[in-house]
Amino acid sequence: MTPLRAIDPVGCGCTECLTGEYRPLDRATADEIVALLTGKLANNLHSGTTLALTVTTEVTSPYQRPGSAPAATTVTAVTVRCEQLRRDLPAWCLPLLPTTI
Ligand SMILES: [Zn+2]
Repeated sequence: MTPLRAIDPVGCGCTECLTGEYRPLDRATADEIVALLTGKLANNLHSGTTLALTVTTEVTSPYQRPGSAPAATTVTAVTVRCEQLRRDLPAWCLPLLPTTI
């Protein structure tokens, strides 16, 4: 089996996508998208492609006095959206995500 090396644009049907060397973004799994965002897979997306990341947090310790540390929160969901694509990413990936890709 050909190892996955890159994520291609949504709907791509190039030879590499057919052989499994590349994967169109709309067919990528959550783990594959994390690999893209962390640089473990090559990024073949079109320039200007927008991946919208939504981070959902839950307040776990809401009571605080003025001047104390901010309320404790836990990341409960990380979601990526691109066109019609929507994938829930594992929350552990959040610290790994770069601010520029
Ligand atoms: Zn392709």
